Amino acid sequence: MFEKILIANRGEIACRVIRTARRMGIKTVAVYSDADRNALHVEMADEAVHIGAAPSAQSYLLIEKIVEACKATGAQAVHPGYGFLSEKREFQEALAAAGIAFIGPDAFAIQAMGDKIESKKLAKKAGVSTVPGYLGVIADDSEAVTIARDIGYPVMIKASAGGGGKGMRVAWNDEEAREGFRSATNEARSSFADDRVFVEKYIQQPRHIEIQLLADGQGTCLYLHERECSIQRRHQKVIEEAPSPFLDAATRKAMGEQAVALANAVQYKSAGTVEFIVDAERNFYFLEMNTRLQVEHPVTELITGLDLVELMIRVAAGEKLTLRQEDVQLNGWAVEARVYAEDPFRNFLPSTGRLTHYRPPAADSHVRVDTGVYEGGEISMYYDPMIAKLCTWGPTRDAAIAEMREALDQYYIRGVSHNIPFLASLMANQRFVDGRLTTNFIAEEYPTGFHASDLPPEDPAVLIAVAAVIHRSLNDRDIQISGKMAGNKATVRDDWVVVLDGTRHPVHLHAAEGKAQRIGYAVEVDGQRHTVLSDWRIGEPLFHGTVNGTDVRVQIDRVGIGYRLHHSGSQAVVKVLTPKAAALDALMPVKAPPDMSKFLLSPMPGLLVSLAVSEGQEVKAGEVLAVVEAMKMENILRASQDGTVAKIHAAPGSSLAVDQKIVEFA
Ligand code: ADP
Repeated sequence: MFEKILIANRGEIACRVIRTARRMGIKTVAVYSDADRNALHVEMADEAVHIGAAPSAQSYLLIEKIVEACKATGAQAVHPGYGFLSEKREFQEALAAAGIAFIGPDAFAIQAMGDKIESKKLAKKAGVSTVPGYLGVIADDSEAVTIARDIGYPVMIKASAGGGGKGMRVAWNDEEAREGFRSATNEARSSFADDRVFVEKYIQQPRHIEIQLLADGQGTCLYLHERECSIQRRHQKVIEEAPSPFLDAATRKAMGEQAVALANAVQYKSAGTVEFIVDAERNFYFLEMNTRLQVEHPVTELITGLDLVELMIRVAAGEKLTLRQEDVQLNGWAVEARVYAEDPFRNFLPSTGRLTHYRPPAADSHVRVDTGVYEGGEISMYYDPMIAKLCTWGPTRDAAIAEMREALDQYYIRGVSHNIPFLASLMANQRFVDGRLTTNFIAEEYPTGFHASDLPPEDPAVLIAVAAVIHRSLNDRDIQISGKMAGNKATVRDDWVVVLDGTRHPVHLHAAEGKAQRIGYAVEVDGQRHTVLSDWRIGEPLFHGTVNGTDVRVQIDRVGIGYRLHHSGSQAVVKVLTPKAAALDALMPVKAPPDMSKFLLSPMPGLLVSLAVSEGQEVKAGEVLAVVEAMKMENILRASQDGTVAKIHAAPGSSLAVDQKIVEFA
């Protein structure tokens, strides 16, 4: 077995690999860029080597630097994680040349599966069912049309070197085929420096179901069942689960056996995944094989009880698998939600910044949190804005989903925007709960994007009762402190008015009968009685208790004289006032929001690449004002109306926060 391994990655996956290596008694080496000096993976590893500047092309993608780091530290093997160099044949070859083991498949398998056209040819030969289509390189748009007609519309035009959802177009007619060919070719050329595209049948209403494989390269290749990853936004996975609610035992076995046949055809070694799309009749078709550990591997670990990273390390060290196919468990149900630093209410714009508060739900046998961040740490603009992968397990699918709802309610993140409201909305969506999934799910269920109204309806009485109890506890404490002073007139009050969304609700509190908890009240809200019991302590950001016997978790932030409450993905600002203060509060003027129409604001965090205007210049509607680069894409900002530039607020080269002023008009 190896004594020391290097992890050529960052973030949650680097931390996850380190954890297993440590448990196996293997020393670990982290690598890091300038932006990751204080990152969690660096802190967790036994040693860490600085490999370059923040952009990944100048650090995590530099093969030489990583080989050097191995030599300098004496690491005998490298785990590549996912992304970065994990599927780069050249990396594997450079390591082999230096006598360092690669914890993954051989270069040949990476090469064979790295290209969509070549891998589909191989799959066909191995008897794997593939999407009907044309597996040749297409010369021009008229050939694309001829082939599309042959296959029959709708078709999908795909970049052979594609990945991450890039270079794919759906076409329903000749015109779209022509246009799709051109745009897929251009995107493939700029993203992958390889403009080969092919055409295949577009499977309608498909599910994305993938098979996890594990092979030792010494004759044993096992399938560790499937994961369903149909909940995608723009071809990127958001929710994954294992097993799939759609497969029966026979289909599972057939898919598993075909995946194994393909792996054997390339003498596969290590963990890998064969992706399929499955139509409404449970016909399944090979999409591609990922020759690495997948982001969503934890759901497989939760239902099989296996540690995939441990098994990858053992196989790379030359051990044979002792597990047999019939011993692979399928126990219960697991769901994963990808928690991202992005604003779901603003078209999922990535968010960056410092995590001022970060408290994940407590991990136990039903809750797993894989993360690479910590409170006080930073989400930088250089890498994938994933905060964590939250997984829950239950004996049934319903139980796993219920656990997920609870865990999301507990997840406390401040400082950056995050998608927990969206994840909470998905978990409450009836079609999701029923398991009626397709890859179009998000587009169909949220046709105009995500809005606060997509969140499950709340019973306002629950929030009102909780707010009153929180406020009463704080009031009691104030009296305890100041009551010891002479002349104090403060009294314990039972009557309050809770102002929620501008509506006033009279509230009356009584001590609850026979309470065992520290806090227990019968709260009359608008004349209706609710029993609130809790062990909450002042200062805790999460209120956990029961309202009328039902478990409730509410996150509390103080804002001004009121509170912002977060529950089931939604937020409400409440004020708890004395009846007299409430009467006066109603007379307070409402502050109008500032007029920002005279400003060009940065729509996202990013880099101001260039400014096209100067002070005093007149501009016409549609004219280019500035270019902002974010997430490796250049965004051109144009004038929305005619006007005169009064002031420039940001210089080219400066990094911009979302909504930061760039230009002011007269
Ligand atoms: P990438 O390598 O970019 O991730 P994939 O080939 O894995 O591309 O496809 C990504 C997603 O695109 C799939 O999960 C599926 O939702 C959709 N997709 C791909 N091919 C087809 C097809 N022929 N018909 C329908 N949907 C498809």
